[in-house]
Parts: sequence; C-alpha cells; structure tokens
Amino acid sequence: MKIQTQGLKRKYSKHSDEYMKEIEEVLFSGSYILGDKVKQFESEFSSYLGVPYVIGVASGLDAIKIACRTLGIGSGDEVIMAANVYSACALAVTAVGAKPVLVDCNRYKNIDITKIENAITKNTKAIMAVHMFGQSCNMDAIWRLANKYCLYVIEDCSQAHGAIYGNQKVGAQSDIACFSFFPTKNLGAFGDGGCIATRNDLFVSKCQILRNYGQKDKGNYIELGYNSRLDEIQAAILKVGLKHLEENNTARQRIAERYLQEINNKKLILPETQPLSTNVWHQFVVECENRDEMCAYLKENGIETLIHYPKPFYLCPAFEYLGYKQGDFPNAEKLTFSLPIYPELSYAEQSRIIKLLNEKI
Ligand SMILES: *Cc1c(COP(=O)(O)O)cnc(C)c1O
Repeated sequence: MKIQTQGLKRKYSKHSDEYMKEIEEVLFSGSYILGDKVKQFESEFSSYLGVPYVIGVASGLDAIKIACRTLGIGSGDEVIMAANVYSACALAVTAVGAKPVLVDCNRYKNIDITKIENAITKNTKAIMAVHMFGQSCNMDAIWRLANKYCLYVIEDCSQAHGAIYGNQKVGAQSDIACFSFFPTKNLGAFGDGGCIATRNDLFVSKCQILRNYGQKDKGNYIELGYNSRLDEIQAAILKVGLKHLEENNTARQRIAERYLQEINNKKLILPETQPLSTNVWHQFVVECENRDEMCAYLKENGIETLIHYPKPFYLCPAFEYLGYKQGDFPNAEKLTFSLPIYPELSYAEQSRIIKLLNEKI
C-alpha cells in the first residue's frame, strides 16, 4: 500500500456526517455569501484564539494583502520576513506595492532574530512573523525590535493553527494576524479560505470593507477593495474542522514524538522545537544532504514525500527583481524534505516509514 503525503480523503470520511449536515444547512438557508456560518465561524475561531475579532477572507494570500492594506503598507514601504517562507508572503507584500526584505532562518526554520536589525531601514514598516511548519517565531525578540524601531508586527499563522508561544496562541501576539485554510493546513477547508485576526477595533472595519469591494455600506465605496469573502460553505466546513483541531494537533504531536524517538539514521537531521513554543507539526521537515537519493528510495518503497519548497521563492524567475542570489541565505537553502505527518496516518504506516528510514544506509 502506498503511503500518501496527505490524508484528505480520510479526513473527510472520518467525520463526513458532520460535514454534510453543516453543508446542507447552508444549501437550505438560501444565504450563500457572508451569511450565518461565516459569522459563527468568525466568532468561534476568535474565542479559540483568544483574539476579539476574526474576519473571514477568501485565502491566506488575500489575508496578508488585506492586512498590509489595513496597516497602510504600500508603495515605498518594506516588510521584513524570512527567506524560507511560502511565496504568498512575498507576493502579498509585492501586490500592495511594498517590498519584501529577506533575512535567513535559524535552526528552528523561523526568522533568525539576530539578522533582523541589519535589515531595518527608514522604509521598514513591519516585521512579518511567519510561523513555519507548526511552531511560533521567537515573538519576544521580534517585539523587542518592533518596539525599538516602531514597527508593526504581522503574524502569518497559516502553518501553525493552535500553536502556543509563551502562554498565548499564535495569532494573538501581534497587531494583525493572517491564516490560510487551504485544505492541507492544520485547520483546512475543502477549498480555499483564510482569515485575519486582530484585537484592534479600527482594523476590523477596514478589513471588512476591503474584503467586500471597499464598501462601507452597500454601494458606498470608500476603498479600492477586493472580492475576498470567506465562502459560506467553507465556513460551515471550518466549524467542523475547528471542533476537531485540538485532537488533530495532538495526533500530529504523537506522530512527531515517535519520529523523533525512533528515527535513527545518521544521514538525517531531525527538526527541533524552540523553548517556549509548542509545535503543531504542520510539516515534519528533515535535513538530508543526499535528499534526492533518500526520496527516491522512499518512493520505490511506496512512501510519498514532499519538499518545502523545491526552490526558495527568491531564486524563481518572478522574484528575480528582488535581487537576491543563490548563497544569500544558507539556512533557507539547506536540502530538506518532509515526511508524511497527518492525524489519519496509522500507527502501522508510521512504523513502516520509521523502519525504512532506519534500514537505509
Ligand atoms: C499556505 C500558506 C499561505 C497561502 O495560503 P493560500 O490560502 O493558499 O493563499 C500563506 N502563508 C503561508 C505561510 C502558507 O503556508
């Protein structure tokens, strides 16, 4: 049997009755855009995060764009982020007319705090804390710098729904936080979706206006906005997903603990979690110098792996204009691949993965 990198069909099957009930309620309601389910999900997710306001939007990319617009970030401004983040972070900043400024990541695969200060210029407006692969950035250190230089902090929690730093969830630690609900995320829809979380009243209405064509009231356009509403059916699906998020994160943590304890192959460097953070293991990323050989071996034996990401985005043609080159961020360029880690991965499947890795010399 093949072991896949994602268990999305299994995820649906496990709770299909709950999903169908929610979806049917939407279909029978006759209200398909910004209806009750979006409101309910926004309120349930805001209680879960411990943040007063959540605004549902159409995707994680849109969440970052709208967050930047809400903070007034635009042409001539710079936003600092790690070089190993997902392309959407840089793309969103570029889309609002600002410039992504990159710094390397650390051994936890999050922004290297010691590199930030050098990257700050008079144009810097914000530090984007992208919580990679399931664990929070070092928020204390980020806030020390942000306060010193009067910068905003934007969190991107798209890979860390439910992770805790200190005693707060990610998403509750900044001026404005962004989430993606892409199907494979720890909290995923069965389609696209995203949201913004904030504790600032002034930001709430601006986000709501921007997601709905820039309208303050119907037909009264006060911003050049977007069509970026969280879909009503996806919101209904996310209500079910949210109910199961904690148990699913715990299941991921159990698998990670097993991998960390039982994988014993000198060619692999296993991931580390920083003190003060919990890890919700969106991905289990291992470093491996002979990655291609290792992944081919696993594939021959029926185990799929993924690479996050095959090429750092700043080395891709669309981002050439940023002016970075190979070798600029050695940690971000390390060869890594990701082992299957999802709540529905069975104990026997985990055992097979561990055994195969340990047998490979
Ligand atoms: C998935 C992801 C996004 C983009 O989300 P979409 O919903 O696909 O637009 C943004 N940032 C990070 C860190 C992500 O992992």
